[in-house]
Amino acid sequence: VFITLEGGDGTGKTTQSELLESWLVAQGRAVVRTREPGGTDVGVEVREIVLHHRGDIAPRAEALLYAADRAHHVATLVRPALERGDVVIQDRYIDSSVAYQGAGRVLDPEAVRGLSEWATEGLLPDLTVLLDLDAASARERLDGARTRYDRLEAEASEFHDRVRSAYLALAAAEPERFLVVDAAQPVEAIAEAVRARVSTLL
Ligand code: C5P
Ligand code: MG
Repeated sequence: VFITLEGGDGTGKTTQSELLESWLVAQGRAVVRTREPGGTDVGVEVREIVLHHRGDIAPRAEALLYAADRAHHVATLVRPALERGDVVIQDRYIDSSVAYQGAGRVLDPEAVRGLSEWATEGLLPDLTVLLDLDAASARERLDGARTRYDRLEAEASEFHDRVRSAYLALAAAEPERFLVVDAAQPVEAIAEAVRARVSTLL
């Protein structure tokens, strides 16, 4: 079972991934919890470039770097785990690219999606949890948690508004794959909503 978590920065993806992992492990499931970018050794290096390079990166180059990270991650970690029968819980996947490189950087979203589908040989999640939060609240949470921003977090609020709208449009287009959760709710209420949906997949 392949579960991805999506949403803007500061919406609580990492917290919810950890809670879901603990719950599944307590039920005796083998779980791999991972993230993009940076889920492999190659990915750690790509992550450093895309998040902390000093200076601009051409939008298409940025899209290709995320796709390269994803290709290596899926081939070496995610697919093998799914083939063993593990549950994979992943912080960000193709929808992040469609939202951030597509809507955020204003590249053709279908081209961005096509690139990722090529990179992953068409691997799609069974469930995608979208943690939805308005950009101002997300910014407030980040301001409390960060000592430095990465290149994307430092983008203007219009960028983050475009990303959020793109995510909601993706969820509306594929309601059977997505669970949209109001990320302003208490952590435990969100975790419960996620568990209820995941239970139906096990
Ligand atoms: O989720 P995490 O904080 O690890 O993501 C790192 C950064 O990369 C975030 O600021 C996110 O906005 C950005 N990102 C992106 N495009 C992707 C994946 C992540 O711009 N496809
Ligand atoms: Mg982040």
